[in-house]
Amino acid sequence: MLMFGVDGEVLEARSLVLGRPEAAFEECRTVLSVQPHPDDTELGAGGLVAKLTSRGVRVVYVTVTDGGCGTTDKSVSWEELAVIRRKEQEEAASILGVSELVWLGYRDTEAVATTRLRDQIISLIRIYKPDLVLTVDPWLTYEAHRDHRETGLAVSEAFLLSGLPNVNRADLECGLEPHSPDYISYYWTRKPNVYIDVSPWMELKFKAIAAHKSQFTEESLALFRKYFELLGRRAGHSYAEAFKVMNSTALHCNVFQHGCTSGAPDPAATLKPVLIDKKPAHLQLVENYSHVTQNLHTLFLDTVCQVLHLAHEAQLEV
Ligand SMILES: [Zn+2]
Repeated sequence: MLMFGVDGEVLEARSLVLGRPEAAFEECRTVLSVQPHPDDTELGAGGLVAKLTSRGVRVVYVTVTDGGCGTTDKSVSWEELAVIRRKEQEEAASILGVSELVWLGYRDTEAVATTRLRDQIISLIRIYKPDLVLTVDPWLTYEAHRDHRETGLAVSEAFLLSGLPNVNRADLECGLEPHSPDYISYYWTRKPNVYIDVSPWMELKFKAIAAHKSQFTEESLALFRKYFELLGRRAGHSYAEAFKVMNSTALHCNVFQHGCTSGAPDPAATLKPVLIDKKPAHLQLVENYSHVTQNLHTLFLDTVCQVLHLAHEAQLEV
């Protein structure tokens, strides 16, 4: 039965499936960041990237499309803009400590999660052997940009299948071995389960974003800064980035996974489910009342954060 709004079976299943999602960032040594366009990683996860490279983590960028449609200026051709955006991306990545960039060269606005795109990403996973793959959340509600949806889907499939030798077997004939990264982490997500304190890295992040001169104005940069401030408020930091971390078990036939609605640690990672009978006379069956107190505390945090969450969404989704 439901215990103070927390379903014990859900908590237990989530914990079994995913464990501590924070471990994805604490333990990684190599990260493959696959983005739809130049600038997506800086915007969604630039603070995390700076934090990781500062401790020696190898981060490799893969950019799926050329970004040639990212302008309202009729005097700039597709090809000209693609060249400009590649240079901007190289500078932005350099600011964050990233020097390895792979360009897949798909036309902006035309990405499709074909087997070809998936297999290209599988090959890159087998080449670089990341422990963590970073990309956009393809299940973001109301995401209208095809490149984001399709890139996220192709990367998710590649993450799930790259350890299977018979998938894209041509890789093995080229000397590559199957490789399964431990985690995939989505940014631009509505159901984060990890908030990263990026306060010390915000100026570097925004310096990198500003390197995409063809894309942003002072006004848009100010809006993005406010966005990460609001995320920080949820988690008790000045600024935060939000991620949905999953592993391969959680990414297939998983009916228990839910987003963590609070900035507090995922309750599934810390709390054991407490079940009580419907009859008040049986309340004494609860052996450990500290669990009850903890659950109440979690419910309180969740409720407060739900209110903040709704207020936050109301501001952003007018
Ligand atoms: Zn994009």
